[in-house]
Amino acid sequence: MIKLLDEALVNKIAAGEVIDRPFNVVKELVENSLDAGALRIVVEAGPTFIRVTDDGSGIQKDDLQLAVRSHATSKIESFDDLQHVSTLGFRGEALASIAAVSFLTILSKTTDSYEGNELCLMAGKPISFRTVAAKQGSLIEVRDLFFNTPVRKKFLDMKEDERITSFLEKFALGTKTSVKLILHTKTVLDVNASDLLDRIAQVYGTEVVSELVPVHYENDFLSIKGFVSKPSLVRRDTAMQALFVNGRLVESEEITSALYDAYKSLLFVNKHPIAVLSLQMFDGVDVNVHPTKKIVKFSFPDKIRNAVFDAVRTVFKEEILDFQVQEKYIPTDAAYVRPTVSTQSKRFVKEHQKSLVAQEHNEKKYVHFPEMRILGNIAKTFFLTETEEGLMIIDQHVVEERINYEKFMKQYMNKAVAVQDLLQAELIDFSPAEAMVMRRNLEKMKGYGFFLEEFGENTFRLTRVPVLFNKIKGSELLRDLLVDFKEDEKEDIITMMSCRKSVKAGDVVSVAEMYILLKELDLCELPYTCPHGRPIMVKLPLGDIEKMFRRKGF
Ligand code: ADP
Ligand code: MG
Repeated sequence: MIKLLDEALVNKIAAGEVIDRPFNVVKELVENSLDAGALRIVVEAGPTFIRVTDDGSGIQKDDLQLAVRSHATSKIESFDDLQHVSTLGFRGEALASIAAVSFLTILSKTTDSYEGNELCLMAGKPISFRTVAAKQGSLIEVRDLFFNTPVRKKFLDMKEDERITSFLEKFALGTKTSVKLILHTKTVLDVNASDLLDRIAQVYGTEVVSELVPVHYENDFLSIKGFVSKPSLVRRDTAMQALFVNGRLVESEEITSALYDAYKSLLFVNKHPIAVLSLQMFDGVDVNVHPTKKIVKFSFPDKIRNAVFDAVRTVFKEEILDFQVQEKYIPTDAAYVRPTVSTQSKRFVKEHQKSLVAQEHNEKKYVHFPEMRILGNIAKTFFLTETEEGLMIIDQHVVEERINYEKFMKQYMNKAVAVQDLLQAELIDFSPAEAMVMRRNLEKMKGYGFFLEEFGENTFRLTRVPVLFNKIKGSELLRDLLVDFKEDEKEDIITMMSCRKSVKAGDVVSVAEMYILLKELDLCELPYTCPHGRPIMVKLPLGDIEKMFRRKGF
């Protein structure tokens, strides 16, 4: 039964404009369908319409007119209900706000009626109301959104398509209800599996699934379920993070920071894990703090943090060990250069030596560095070298990043990115939203040396790659590239690619390898910072060291 909320309660509800673009319409409508207990939700959208069909409870004939009134809801009645909202909606405003700025049709049928009823409104005013044949559930159709308002984003453009798609991708992971999105008559998302892992595969592609580990956690306050990625599978943005609190898709600083803490040293800068996590708790969560309801407030934020941290960390203790023992740590020192290098390093040395020779022959020499003697490395991250002036500490990762950045930038600017055919084309599955960005950037990808062709729904065939990046798995690099293509920044793109290729903190680098890297770095135009602007090396002058030991200046 839909009722008007009394004024005192209305005043307690966090209000604000919720409908300001087509995306909001989709969000509010699918949330209503889920609240109505739908098992199937279909969203169709085109240039001038949005239609959401569900098989949920439907709306009674007598309630139809009320449903589009402001502050009319069947979901809460009292302030007490507001404290324990279990539905996604509760403000009773969405349909009213949508109705006010569009032509709205609501066609609905409940189980206890043979017929359905259809209400049509224009700018919030009823223009027809009739009985019609209908299936169980509701069909809500919004036409000509914002036809009566001046400056609003009225139509679906590519960006809005992407926004809707990525929202529904996440939304579909928080429920067992089947969710289908048909955009411009094309089915771009169809999630219908009952098992979460299968649903994740339907959304993000099967490739991702093998790198996910399950999370199961419970204490007397809350439970956490879902999947997180091993640190070997990370993303450059948070597009594949979906966090749910009591079924509601939320953004939460508490949950996110605990998640990253759990990965701590296992992630590199600007890397993001994949995470689909669902928190359930009876008490201690306030959903009434933000107009679009995407932010919730926890009464005991520390409890949430600790639980998320424990839940994810436990998984790693059991699962990640094989990831960490990739190569045994072999200590190196100045006098000792590893005589036998691993196959990976052999290739590494060769690759760099070759290009070093080429560069020395062809290019202007920049001489930047004083003579250095490599003393060894610490924490598998920093190299220590001695120069006449003192101690130099060098970040092994950023050295190679700078080198690759300059090499690739040069090729790119000269429109001469060296490419090579892959012996075997790589098939890459994207999520529907990613595939949209990819499709629109295929030509640009070529400019960067990646040749792709469409191969089925959201699958692409990668046939050629830049020579400089031939050792990296195409799918990983391309997903990263997509993030930058959204932003469209050349510098970012190449920085990212250089970063991907480069040795990491934690990779074992021998003194011999480091020596080669430093020589290459010396040929760079800007050898002192990495492309992100972080320093490559830090000098600790002899004078300062002497001061530390109170040998001078006291
Ligand atoms: P709220 O979701 O906050 O209650 P809305 O304006 O979104 O407010 O919807 C008003 C009311 O209309 C809901 O409380 C619900 O009773 C009814 N309603 C809306 N959409 C549906 C739907 N798809 N199926 C069944 N009932 C619906
Ligand atoms: Mg609602």
